[in-house]
Amino acid sequence: MKILHVCSELYPLLKTGGLADVTGSLPQALTKLGADARVIVPGFPAFLNGVISKKLISKIPDKFSATDINLYYGHIPNSEVGIYIIDAKNLYDRPGNPYQDDKGVAYPDNHRRFALLGYLAFLLATGIDDCWKPQVIHGHDWHSGLACAYLRAHEFCTGFKLAGSIFTIHNLAYQGIFPQSIFTELELPDEFYDINGLEFYAQVSFLKAGLFFADKITTVSPTYAIEIQGEEQGCGFNGLLSNRKYDLRGILNGVDKNVWNPETDKIISQNYSNKAIAGKLFCKTTLQEQLGLAIRNDAPLFVVVSRLTEQKGLHLILSELPTIMKLGGQFVLLGSGDEVLENAFKDLAKLHPKSVSVKIGYDENYAHQIIASGDVILVPSRFEPCGLTQLYGMLYGTLPLVHKVGGLADTVIDCTLENLADNSATGFVFEKFNIESFNAALRRAFALYDKKANWKSVQKHAMRQDFSWVNTSQQFMLLYEQVRSL
Ligand code: ADP
Repeated sequence: MKILHVCSELYPLLKTGGLADVTGSLPQALTKLGADARVIVPGFPAFLNGVISKKLISKIPDKFSATDINLYYGHIPNSEVGIYIIDAKNLYDRPGNPYQDDKGVAYPDNHRRFALLGYLAFLLATGIDDCWKPQVIHGHDWHSGLACAYLRAHEFCTGFKLAGSIFTIHNLAYQGIFPQSIFTELELPDEFYDINGLEFYAQVSFLKAGLFFADKITTVSPTYAIEIQGEEQGCGFNGLLSNRKYDLRGILNGVDKNVWNPETDKIISQNYSNKAIAGKLFCKTTLQEQLGLAIRNDAPLFVVVSRLTEQKGLHLILSELPTIMKLGGQFVLLGSGDEVLENAFKDLAKLHPKSVSVKIGYDENYAHQIIASGDVILVPSRFEPCGLTQLYGMLYGTLPLVHKVGGLADTVIDCTLENLADNSATGFVFEKFNIESFNAALRRAFALYDKKANWKSVQKHAMRQDFSWVNTSQQFMLLYEQVRSL
């Protein structure tokens, strides 16, 4: 089975969030099942410089204002997965992250940048690489949405279907919306600018192109698949999604154990496992020392690794940080994003240097260190499609404290008395998205921390959870079989 993943970021070459972790792992997991999975990405400098054994596949005529377009094929280091890279310097060779300039402003020609990504994925399905043609195109988030539209446009115009298509929603809040005026630039049939197409409230949505034209839609947890069919979390797409509910599946993300595994992780201060956990305390003490926090094992260490956005419920943490300190806890945060949140956390760290430490920025190694060193990882998101840090937390014996929503609800089992009694608890879950409910969960975490034997048994159970990609990739293979071309 030949599968082409279409995406804008991929770990370890380029990452801004959980999407990259998934696009870095899923194709590898599919390869292990015998599939021939490849990836296509825009030619951002991190990709062009990061791949190995790069060779030219095809020169592409100018398109969407891109000139001198070259399609390369290479390999991701330490991986069997092949990667196509669209080298189009005037669209992709820019500072900043894949979507915004270095001042955080979205590039004004993003519609062209990501139309080209979708178009080249489609061209691969027409056979522009003599050696390889996908049977399924699997797009990730709005950046890839037009791949599904170009495939369908070809079918619409010729009656011939080139490849099956799957579209995965990693976060419905990012919708790739552009003014109607850009539609003609996309070179799609006029009929596609329609409520049954990629028109969205008199604008163009690349996300909607994926949702409407893909053969099947998946999202990253079963609960989120249900939530997005309702008004509260549907972001305006709930009608479309509930109409397509038989084509929509929630498939939980996995964790790459080659990257996130406390037994083998080369980044953390000392390795440990659920059978020999002493190294975890060493990690905590080392971090406390490095950060100038009071070196105290009796102080539960609460950690956060997150984009600082409204989605992540960080205002709950800001309100309850005094409670954490009053009850004798410590707090360490790594994150970047909203300036107001950044400043609020920085101010608290200045006021309480022995118990609060805040690092603003993006730092993959430090993320591993603090997840290994923490006792509790806080993920109080307002909504959360899947969430990965709570999974990493569990595998590292850092109990997650989460809002019962989306993938958080699907993966963490609360420390209620009955769950403690039957040994199923893996963390702390609060139901209502408010300060009282969050505060109660925090106090449950402190209470359990005082009962060392109970804490250890929950920790060990959390570390034994299986979030491997095996099950997830098998579910995708079944879907690919349903939509593939021959
Ligand atoms: P989202 O994709 O919404 O950001 P996820 O929990 O699905 O949230 O994935 C976040 C990923 O990004 C995790 O791998 C997490 O470790 C990483 N991450 C988030 N913020 C940072 C940061 N400031 N530095 C390093 N890694 C980060």
